[in-house]
Amino acid sequence: MAGSSTRIASVRTHLLEHRLDRQFESSFSRFESRAHCLVEVTTEDGTSGWGECLGPMRLNAAVVAAMAPLLLGRDALDHETLWLHLYSQFRDQGQRGLAVTALSGIEIALWDLKGRHFEAPVHRLLGGAFRTEIPAYATGGFRRTGKADRPAYLAEEAAGYVGEGFGAVKIKIGYGVEEDLAAIRAVRAAIGPDAGLMIDANHGYDALEAIRLGRAAADQDIGWFEEPVVPEDLEGYRAVRAGQPIPVAGGETWFTRWGFRDPIQSRAVDILQPDVCAVGGLSEACRVAALAETFGLRLVPHVWGTGVALAAALQFLAVLPVSPPRHEPRRPLLEFDRTENPFRQAVLTRPIEHAGGLVAVPDGPGLGIEIDRAALGTYAAED
Ligand code: CA
Repeated sequence: MAGSSTRIASVRTHLLEHRLDRQFESSFSRFESRAHCLVEVTTEDGTSGWGECLGPMRLNAAVVAAMAPLLLGRDALDHETLWLHLYSQFRDQGQRGLAVTALSGIEIALWDLKGRHFEAPVHRLLGGAFRTEIPAYATGGFRRTGKADRPAYLAEEAAGYVGEGFGAVKIKIGYGVEEDLAAIRAVRAAIGPDAGLMIDANHGYDALEAIRLGRAAADQDIGWFEEPVVPEDLEGYRAVRAGQPIPVAGGETWFTRWGFRDPIQSRAVDILQPDVCAVGGLSEACRVAALAETFGLRLVPHVWGTGVALAAALQFLAVLPVSPPRHEPRRPLLEFDRTENPFRQAVLTRPIEHAGGLVAVPDGPGLGIEIDRAALGTYAAED
């Protein structure tokens, strides 16, 4: 079925931005706007496939633009060969970071094109879905810039997510051990004993602080302790894992199968968190999932972006192997960002939403989504 119609005619990016009504901050950065980079790859028959890159949108767009000439005229259905060609051409300076996030957006768009061409959802082309809906946890709980009484507003926010039907919530920490402990305890009290609670330091601690916090917070029934230390410090990860009882998670800033090899082999974490829009794309996420299964580690993908990123993550979550197989297998989790970002939903003609904490895997061709081009204009970033 392949032919000239599936030859790549153009590769472009769409930069979207929304100035936040209410600024918030992670342990090390301040969010004044939401900004994300979509990738659109169009074939000669006029079909467009969509992808998304995690990370700084203008830098991603520059790398995508640098990669685009290597794609023009090539057959979009040969996406594995195209991936390796791009990776190898940028390898010497590009084994991680922006080269791979840009490549991820392109690869996801090529998968979307392949699904549209064969009129099948990506999860079918990847081998079939183990599940058709995914339980989601709510990501939020950032510190609000310039606002006092963090325990109180976080407790209210988290209780709201549980009230909406989410079975678990994740809050941000990494602002100081004592301040964080007060926030964690307030949130646990507000959501009750049955809801899941995870904490994410965005690598705001060193290993000693993380161990102290983990030991003190362990009686709050924490699902995982995410990015306790900087991602380069695998020794620190292992020290945190050995020194306190909460399961350790990480991986949103590790890239490709090679980048995940050492964290996996040395068991730096209990739970791997590759981001489909950063790790190298859907095929690369599946390779990391195969490694995770091989080494007996859990995997919960990281998601931070628009409905395109959500759709890509859902296609990946659908095909994550059941491990171990049993009558009632453990279900994978979708990270569902609930912070202010109107274009997360607006970019899709049929936005991805949850119902009682469950999100359906899109079952249309490709990623299973259609882009609302008017919304791309409404939220287009200013030059
Ligand atoms: Ca995180």
